[in-house]
Formats: sequence, C-alpha cells, structure tokens
Amino acid sequence: MAFEDIFPQPLRQALESVTRIPTYGERGAGRLVYNLLKLDPPERKEVVEKLLEAAEKLKPCKECYLITDREVCAVCSDPKRSKRFICVVEESQDAYYIERLERYRGVYHVLQGRIAPLEGISPQDLTVEKLLERIEKNRVKEVIIATNPNAEGEATANYLIKLIGDRFKNVKTSRISYGLQFGSLLEFVDELSLEKSFENRK
Ligand SMILES: [Zn+2]
Repeated sequence: MAFEDIFPQPLRQALESVTRIPTYGERGAGRLVYNLLKLDPPERKEVVEKLLEAAEKLKPCKECYLITDREVCAVCSDPKRSKRFICVVEESQDAYYIERLERYRGVYHVLQGRIAPLEGISPQDLTVEKLLERIEKNRVKEVIIATNPNAEGEATANYLIKLIGDRFKNVKTSRISYGLQFGSLLEFVDELSLEKSFENRK
C-alpha cells in the first residue's frame, strides 16, 4: 500500500496548510486536524466556517493593531478611553487579559511580536515606529509596557523604555511585570497577580 493511500491527499493538504500558521509545527498541525476530525461532521463544518468568517473579517486596527472587524477598533474609537495612556503588548490577545480586569481606561499598542535576536526579529520588524508616531501625535503622558515577563519580553521592554526616554523627555514609562513570575507568559498569569502588577507598575 502506498504512503499516499495511508495518508490521503485531503489530510496531507490540511496538515501542510496548518503548519503555515506561526508556532504550529507538524505536531501542532496534527493535533488540530486529527482532533477536528473527532467532531461530528456538522459540528466540524461549523468550526471551519467560524474560522473562515474570522479569517475574512478580522484584521489589525490601523491605529493600534488590535485585531478588529472595523478599520479602527472599539478601544481606539471609544471617546471615554484616554489616548494619552498607551499600554504596549506583544500580541493582540494579551490585551484581552488586561481588559478582563476592567480597570484600564487608556488605549493599546500591539507590537506584533517581541525583539528576539536569535530568531532575527529586530525592532524594525515590530510596530515600534507607529508607536513613536502615536506618542508624538496624541501627546501621550504614560506608556505602560506589558510585554511578557520572560527574557525576550524584558529585553523588549528595556529597549522601548530607553528609546521613549531618549526621544520624549516628558513621557513616563512604566513596566507591569512587577511581581510576576519570571518566565511566565501573560496569558498564564492569574488575574490577581496581573491586577497587582498593574497597581505596582513602576
Ligand atoms: Zn485600535
């Protein structure tokens, strides 16, 4: 029996296309595709349709890069949120953990990654220029850096704090990883310690 018969083309195609998603290697793709197939066909179809709808409708906000279904996201277009406070996160989903606290009344800026020299990711690959533009344009008072509390997140935070400090003398920068467990990712940090770190930012 040929390899192609054991692993039919639709299966191979599905696996190969999932590996194009960042962080999904062969194992990740296998987990997603094989587990999807455990669902009943109608449920399976619904999951795929929801993904397709998300893929077609969602894009980064043209101001802050939060994922949105409009040109400008709900946070940026909310007149009650101050544009003079910017909370910098690595990825759009990180803002979710901060929003859940229902305390922050400023806006966000998504870097779309972090500085990682070993992977060849430099500040030019992130949305740093746009961040500087926004700080200038909105006469920002404080930039709260909420990159992940691991080595790369720390390095990214330190880079931004220096860059902003050198360029804007009157802009305060603060870091909210205070008290968080070193090496943990923002999404795994429980609400209480995240809330504490927000209060204790320095
Ligand atoms: Zn926005």
